[in-house]
Amino acid sequence: MIGLVWGGKLARARSRRRDDEGTPTLGALLQRVFRSSGAGLAVLADTGDVVLHNPRAADLGVVHSGLPDARAWAVCQQVVEKGTPQDVDLSPLAYRGRQPAAVLATVRPLGDGFTVVEAADTSEAVRLEATRRDFVANVSHELKTPVGAIGLLAEAVLDAADDPDEVHHFGSKILHEAARLGNLVTELIALSRLTGAERLPELAAVEIDEVVREALTRSRLSAESAGIAITVDASSGLVVDGDRTLLVTALSNLVENAIAYSPRGASVSVTRRRRGDVIEVAVTDRGIGIAPEHQERVFERFFRVDPARSRATGGTGLGLAIVKHVLANHGGEVRLWSRPGTGSTFTMRLPARAAVDQDPLPGAGHEESPDPARTAERAGGLK
Ligand code: ADP
Repeated sequence: MIGLVWGGKLARARSRRRDDEGTPTLGALLQRVFRSSGAGLAVLADTGDVVLHNPRAADLGVVHSGLPDARAWAVCQQVVEKGTPQDVDLSPLAYRGRQPAAVLATVRPLGDGFTVVEAADTSEAVRLEATRRDFVANVSHELKTPVGAIGLLAEAVLDAADDPDEVHHFGSKILHEAARLGNLVTELIALSRLTGAERLPELAAVEIDEVVREALTRSRLSAESAGIAITVDASSGLVVDGDRTLLVTALSNLVENAIAYSPRGASVSVTRRRRGDVIEVAVTDRGIGIAPEHQERVFERFFRVDPARSRATGGTGLGLAIVKHVLANHGGEVRLWSRPGTGSTFTMRLPARAAVDQDPLPGAGHEESPDPARTAERAGGLK
């Protein structure tokens, strides 16, 4: 049936041309389709000869130097015998330069002793599956720790039932672990929304100054208890298309980190500016900094340079992964500059709102009020 439809179209295509010369035959077209296919295709005879194959089959290692891969050939023989298709793993046994890491093929019988091997590069799927497995293992581990601690602490409370001080001591530890568990679950949900099927809700005009103000309000308590003053630049009047809540979450994760990874009394600053079509919001600290070899990895879920320090500050190891996804979902990115012992600057980069006047609003350039960061500055830390 397909042959007929195709034949009819080809005949029409031919009749449209005055000169029939150079019009490909159906066989030639089929060969072009075969040659240009994204799948690695090889037709094998029951003698073990490769009758024809496309360049992709050679790239994927189905055919080497005109001979079929031994695993493919073994399966082809079984397929000829049984007459039913069969899958075969043709992943390279050793790393060979540019070859993909994982190749999966299906061998189908073509009749008369011929088989076709159809191979695809499955490296990405294999990599994703490995990432998923790691993630599940990490989540289980991260959940097990506070749950185990809560169990032990509850036992301690029961044992110390007659001693109010001890009960208070263990009770507050239980509360601390429960809060950590709650944070972890909240961040896991946020992350799965950002990376899962749920699309970013409708984007709306978001004022960057509002985002900065709200993120700083959220971090006020931690800044105060760490004796850290946060300085902010003047209001900018800049606007992006985005999701306000997510942008506030991302920025406050960066500010919380700047506070958590700085020594007591250090300073943190938040600045915003427009650079061409990009709006940048940067958080700079003079904290411990991040070594070059860790600078990419800090955006991975659950990666921590110093797990003990991160746990001590209540970190979940998910904050920067969330920041990265929020920015990616906005068509932006997060950049990092850091030097151990000097400090770090994390910059959120967002596309400026399209076709909207980005000139600073009237009044921009003056001090915001009330501004928690400025309040913190006045309250003490930074001179
Ligand atoms: P956490 O909850 O552990 O802070 P994040 O995903 O927010 O998780 O950060 C991952 C790791 O990156 C942290 O554990 C820390 O080692 C490092 N890090 C993040 N922000 C900073 C910073 N401002 N200065 C130094 N190290 C940082």
